[in-house]
Formats: sequence, C-alpha cells, structure tokens
Amino acid sequence: MNAQITLHKGDITTDAQADAIVNAANTSLLGGGGVDGAIHRAAGPELLMECRTLHGCQTGEAKITKGYRLPAAHVIHTVGPIYRDGHHGEPELLASAYRRSIEVAAEHGCARVAFPAISAGVYGYPTDQAARIAVATVAQAMTEHPQVSEARFWLFNERVFHAFEAALSELGAVS
Ligand code: ADP
Repeated sequence: MNAQITLHKGDITTDAQADAIVNAANTSLLGGGGVDGAIHRAAGPELLMECRTLHGCQTGEAKITKGYRLPAAHVIHTVGPIYRDGHHGEPELLASAYRRSIEVAAEHGCARVAFPAISAGVYGYPTDQAARIAVATVAQAMTEHPQVSEARFWLFNERVFHAFEAALSELGAVS
C-alpha cells in the first residue's frame, strides 16, 4: 500500500507540506471557534469572502476554497456531526465528512491532505470512537482514490494524539 497516514502534534495551520488543509467547519461556513477560527485567522479575510459565495455546507459534505495566506494551496471545508448519543447517524456522518474530503482532494489533485480531529472538539464526539472512524475511513478512501497519497492528521493535545495512535495500530496501518 502506497498511501500513508501520518500523525502530527500541534497546529494544523502550520503544515507547509500539505496540498490541502481540511477545516472542521460548521454548516454556515462563515467561521467559528476551534480549528475553524484558527484556519480563518491564518488564511486572512479573503477566505471568509470566498466562503460567503459557497452558501453553506451540509453535515457530512465538503467544499473546497483557496488557502490564501495558509501554507497550503487549498482548504477543504467539511462539517462533522454534533454528537448526541451515537444513534442519530453520527458514525455515518463523521465517516462521510472524511470520505467526501478525500474525494474532493482527489478531484482537485491534492496528494497530501492535512486533517484535524473532526467533531472531536466542541461537537463532542467521543475521542476514541472519532479516531477509529477517522483512520479507517481515510485509509479506505485513499485506496479508492490513489491520487491522494498521504493523510496528515494534526492532533492538538496528547489525549487525542494517543487515541489516533491506538486507532492506527488497531488498523495495522503505517505510522
Ligand atoms: P468540532 O466543532 O468539529 O468538534 P473543533 O475545532 O471544536 O471542531 O475541534 C476539533 C479538534 O481540533 C479538537 O481536537 C481541537 O482540539 C482541535 N483543534 C483546535 N484548534 C486546532 C488547530 N489549530 N490545529 C489542529 N487542531 C486543532
């Protein structure tokens, strides 16, 4: 298998090797807190101007913009589910957010894609489950879209980093 999943600690907006940075946005695509706020701050106000032309994004979907002042050429905005109890389609919607992001990356020739832990912050998805869905879905989607050769997960704190490490070793994938 040529596709690689790599784990990184810290701020996704500093990734200078990615062709696209995935944003864990909300359905308005007009900015928010967490990683969304960090991406808009780092990209500059032109990102919000382009987002206004997109008219939002449904949960589980993904839309692409330019990266502006970010080191990556593109931002892929996706919307993960707000976690309720796990019985309101959350696993499918979270998997869809990752899968659609890989599909959009492939359509736009983005080989290296940086991901945050979608839904694992304010949206409240249990970390271990979110990590398992993330790595399993991304690994599968990359086999279907070999144009995408690396998924680079940026994990903002130790607990989330370790959850992704565990999920990756369960999957038996490369580091
Ligand atoms: P959501 O609303 O989808 O839960 P959040 O932005 O609240 O999105 O959180 C998603 C994950 O991103 C959390 O684990 C959070 O700690 C992390 N995060 C916040 N800022 C950054 C950043 N600058 N780079 C990478 N990850 C970040």
